[in-house]
Amino acid sequence: MNPARLLLVIPCYNEEAILSLTYSKLNIYFSEIKNRGLIAADSRICFVNDGSRDRTWNIIEELCAQDPNVIGVGLSRNFGHQSAIMAGLEAHVDQFDCFITIDADLQDDINAITGMLERHREGAMVVYGVRGDRSSDSWFKRFTAEKFYVLMQKMGVPVVFNHADFRLMDRRVLKELGNFREINLFLRGIVPLIGFRSDKVFYNRLERQAGETKYPLSKMLLFAWNGITSFSTFPMRLVLYFGVFNFFVAMVIVVYILFSYLVGFTVPGWTSTMLPLTFFSGSNMMALGLIGEYIGKIYEEVKGRPRYIIEKTVNE
Ligand code: UDP
Ligand code: MG
Repeated sequence: MNPARLLLVIPCYNEEAILSLTYSKLNIYFSEIKNRGLIAADSRICFVNDGSRDRTWNIIEELCAQDPNVIGVGLSRNFGHQSAIMAGLEAHVDQFDCFITIDADLQDDINAITGMLERHREGAMVVYGVRGDRSSDSWFKRFTAEKFYVLMQKMGVPVVFNHADFRLMDRRVLKELGNFREINLFLRGIVPLIGFRSDKVFYNRLERQAGETKYPLSKMLLFAWNGITSFSTFPMRLVLYFGVFNFFVAMVIVVYILFSYLVGFTVPGWTSTMLPLTFFSGSNMMALGLIGEYIGKIYEEVKGRPRYIIEKTVNE
């Protein structure tokens, strides 16, 4: 079997402090696995500049000038991590056999790439990089990340535990990924939806080698919220549940109000104020939840996701 042509895609946002180091480490690693026959000689490294405000793009240009195996893609502004990854991938679908995405900061252990390529050789179409040990992350990051994965799974999003965006995809999978047309990309949720045979490779998450995280708490929360709302209409369904509950409570209160009125417990005006107030707020909430259900359906439809993906056919 011929070695696969690999494209490594690296999203970069304000990474001037580390880019040269990342490149030199990858370059050494690349020659090594080329020599071992794990990847084809025309495998390449693609840096995607996600609208950085520092010298990131200049560095990418310099790297391209000295090494023809480096590809530079520059986005017109900051589109975010997920879109930067997609930009690098989609621009080269037809030129490579498999694709690995990895962060610029060397937190993901590049040595895991060998394992990914081996799994791919054995027939896995997707190989997830899974963090075995996260002790280099702060306890806060570990805690929030773990809760995040649990919450996602509870809400029906098939995320792989402790897997971020360090993964290998076969060209076939990438082509199918292109059919998910939503703008709010949450790759960790979408890739498992594509199916095909997958495998995992475990690695230890390292310290960021230089520069600072581009995911401060606010961005992290936004990312998590995006992930949940792009995949699950459960938060909206809660409104319906709450509405139905409210409606029944309102009915009980209505009975109580009528009873008080008939027995003569009340002051004038109380019944005529309380009755519509209770009744309409209960039914309003329920109606809102009902409308929400339809909006949820519309949301599912406008995403235009493929209904199914055929892996193979026989005798066709
Ligand atoms: N990144 C990007 N666009 C952004 C934010 C981040 O391309 O708007 C890149 C960043 O350069 C890095 C990767 O996404 O290669 C992950 O970011 P970071 O390491 O800062 O996140 P953390 O590991 O702290 O969660
Ligand atoms: Mg990082």
